[in-house]
Amino acid sequence: AVNASRCMYCGNCYTMCPAMPLASGEGDGIVLMVGGKVSNRISMPKFSKVVVAYIPNEPPRWPTLTKMIKHIVEVYAANAKKYERLGEWAERIGWEKFFELCDLEFSHHCIDDFRDPAYYTWRQSTQFKFTKHIEA
Ligand code: SF4
Repeated sequence: AVNASRCMYCGNCYTMCPAMPLASGEGDGIVLMVGGKVSNRISMPKFSKVVVAYIPNEPPRWPTLTKMIKHIVEVYAANAKKYERLGEWAERIGWEKFFELCDLEFSHHCIDDFRDPAYYTWRQSTQFKFTKHIEA
């Protein structure tokens, strides 16, 4: 059971117990995020970015969501370089251009303002390079 007076809507209980009835008939929706990755290949791991802040929940086939994803994938496939990941492509052309090409509306919900102390102080990647040690 959710203690409503203490709940801060983090959603963690849902990941632990997917059967929890957290869905809201009125407010239910989908956030579409793109460009994140865990891989160290070419560039550091990245967080995904919100590109559509709200898409109605339309089971069982989610037509609005699937249409948007299909369009993004088609634009990406037509414009990115071979082996370029979506996030890397968007960064190369600029996110403004990404929104324009994918016919997505930019809103204040899409602004990437994630910053915490780790952003400046912690090593964020396992990428490294070997350097040659020279004896004095
Ligand atoms: S885990 Fe998060 S969303 Fe779930 S009840 Fe606790 S504070 Fe609320």
